[in-house]
Amino acid sequence: MVKICFATHNRNKLSEIQKLAPAQIQLVSLSDLELHEEIPETGSTLEENSAIKAQYVFDKLGMPCFADDTGLEVEALNGAPGVYSARYAGEQKNDRDNIALLLKNLDGNDNRKAAFKTVITYINSDGEKQQFTGEAKGVIITELKGNCGFGYDPIFVPENQSLTFAEMSAQEKNAISHRGRAFDKFISYLSSL
Ligand code: IMP
Repeated sequence: MVKICFATHNRNKLSEIQKLAPAQIQLVSLSDLELHEEIPETGSTLEENSAIKAQYVFDKLGMPCFADDTGLEVEALNGAPGVYSARYAGEQKNDRDNIALLLKNLDGNDNRKAAFKTVITYINSDGEKQQFTGEAKGVIITELKGNCGFGYDPIFVPENQSLTFAEMSAQEKNAISHRGRAFDKFISYLSSL
């Protein structure tokens, strides 16, 4: 059995990924390891932030670990909110405030193209780093639709779909989402070891 730390405090996120991981891999969260501090997110890209988080945990614990970082990149806003997606409308990190600000900033703009991107950084027991990326392209609609999911889900319709992420079941969303795609690649990699 190989233990790998997922640099998250969120046990739900962890148990979701644990179900997909090969049987010989046991995932543990930061809370399981009594690492309760906030991990700094000081990077200016998703790649940097995900690497900073994974490195921070590796330096503290010296065990294999991975971190993920996700952002929504809107073409007409030059890639914003991007790495600032969680705190776009302020440090209160409120989904509804973030959506309201995004819709306001896109008001009257015909270019509604956007993409969610997830970057996972894995650091193995030798300290070697690897990144896995997943993307979901789509458009930002003008009003909220659906009650599932979180974040910007109610205003994001993925490419070739008619429903927002918030109108899909978790299973439907995972099959085509940025996070689902990044974790598919990462899990395939772990399975090949
Ligand atoms: P995190 O890196 O997973 O914490 O994501 C950062 C922020 O991006 C979240 O606070 C949400 O605002 C947004 N976000 C991440 N993933 C999703 C998603 O799957 N749907 C909608 N919003 C998301």
